[in-house]
Order: sequence, then C-alpha cells, then structure tokens
Amino acid sequence: MNYEIKKLLPGLYMVATPIGNARDITLRALDILASADLIAAEDTRTARKLMDIHGVPLGDRQVIAYHDHSGDGPRGRVATVVAGGGSVAYVSEAGTPLIADPGYALGRAVSDAGGAVFAAPGASAALAALAVSGLPTDQFAFLGFLPNTQSARQSALADLRKLAMTVVVYESPKRVRDLLADLVQVLGADCPVVVCRELTKKFEEVVRGRAGDVVQMLDEKSPRGEYVVLIGHAGQVAASDDDIRSALVEAMKTARVKDAANMVAGAMGLPKREVYQLALTLDRPTQGE
Ligand code: SAM
Repeated sequence: MNYEIKKLLPGLYMVATPIGNARDITLRALDILASADLIAAEDTRTARKLMDIHGVPLGDRQVIAYHDHSGDGPRGRVATVVAGGGSVAYVSEAGTPLIADPGYALGRAVSDAGGAVFAAPGASAALAALAVSGLPTDQFAFLGFLPNTQSARQSALADLRKLAMTVVVYESPKRVRDLLADLVQVLGADCPVVVCRELTKKFEEVVRGRAGDVVQMLDEKSPRGEYVVLIGHAGQVAASDDDIRSALVEAMKTARVKDAANMVAGAMGLPKREVYQLALTLDRPTQGE
C-alpha cells in the first residue's frame, strides 16, 4: 500500500498527476486522493482509473466533474465543502492543474471565499520538456497553446524576437507541422528548436535541431501523440552581424545613432549596449542616401 489515509487540513488541493507514465505520481498525491472528503476532476473516468491503478479506494466519496466552464454549481459545491472545514482534491486530465488546464477559476473561488489552496506538485509536460531539451533554462517563457489561425500564430511568433529566452509551447499533432513551418517563415530556418513527443511514454521522442531541418523531418511522417515544442532564443541565431549592420545602416538614415541602435535592438531582441557599440563602428549614412 503506497498511500496513507490522513486528516487533511481544510482546503482545496491542486494535485498533479502523471503526463504518461502512471508511476510518475507522488506519494503525497496518493495520500491526498485517498484522504480528501471530495474529489473534483476534469475527467472523472481518468481520475477513477488513476486511483484504481494505485489501489486508492474511493469508498463512499464522490468524484465530481469540474471544468472552468462548469459554472457556479460545482465551484460553489467545492467552496462550501472547504468553508465547512473539509478537503477537496482537484485533478486535471494529466499533469499539473491550471497549466494549460482547468483549475484557475476553482482556486480563485475558494481563495476569494477565504479558503486555503494547497499544491501537491508533480509532473508537467513543460518542465519535463525543458529538462531534456538541452536549451538554456535559466530563464524561460511558457506560452501554452499558440493561436490556431495562421496570421495570429505568426504574429505571436514574431513577438518572440523580443524574448531573450527559451520559449515553451504546447501543440496538437494536427498543427505541430504548421507551427514549425510558421517558425521557419517568421524566425528563420536556423532558429533552434526541440520537439518533444510523448514524454514518459512508450514512444517518447526528442528531436533537436534547426527549425528548417525539423520541419522536413515532420513532413516525412504524420505526427501522432502529444507534443511540446521548445524554441531557442531566435534573435541570437537568426540575426548575423551583417544582418544587424544592414538594419543599423537603414535605421541611421532617419534616426540618431542611439535611437537607431535602440530600435534595431528591440526589433531583433538583442542587447541594446552591444548593438550601440556596433552602431558606433559604422559610418553614418548621409541623408537621402
Ligand atoms: N496540465 C498539463 C501539464 O501540466 O503539462 C498540460 C495539459 S494540456 C491540455 C495538454 C498538452 O500538454 C498536450 O497537447 C501536449 O502539448 C502537452 N503534453 C501533455 N502530456 C505530454 C507528453 N507526455 N509529452 C509531450 N507533451 C505532452
């Protein structure tokens, strides 16, 4: 038996569940699932199955369905249980609740009513992907799912030039190829990417490379399963010194050296000081050139 039935502090417990391998559950998560007065789940069948796999008995407790669109009914019920001194475990379909998953409105409802919200941390596909990516993790941005329409997606990708850090996005198998193709178009074929598929599962796969090569690999087989795409800092690779010089020459036709350097640094996601130093080495073009 891997769980203990305990008297939990009153509150809502956001319980992380595995993203593939059922054994990636924490002992504390099992304790909470075994002990909470009420269990709320994005998908009640998945929650029951997980408890079953780990031999956690449900007894006469209920598992209720909760999604952030569920409305005030189930949310009110959870808040009432917590307000009455009880405990509620919330699990999303996989991974950490609230991370591209429901739970936000539930947590707010409980905390706004003065109840406690606790985390039982565990798996999340974003963190698992960062851990295997080989890309810098000192700073990263998680953008969840990018927009479905091509124009909105391309404009979201263009904004990444300003982010000097690794970017993590989730994508469905239906759209992952389109995402990579847009990446090539907007950030260039040299943009470093890592595509993580089916992490912790039987067909786990991690492909690291340039966007231009990776999109070709996706063309060769039809994508299946769950994907996380990590994008390296595009500005570092996409812009060569020649690219920066040309942009500076262009900007300096109409702006003062410092303003031109700031404009170019902003557009290419580069450090202002370095671009300014480079600008100082250039001849200022004559007006109207
Ligand atoms: N809450 C989850 C978490 O903490 O990662 C994410 C839920 S979101 C609805 C589902 C998406 O997460 C999938 O479409 C995929 O992009 C990513 N994902 C989930 N499990 C994955 C896995 N095992 N391997 C790769 N990506 C995964």
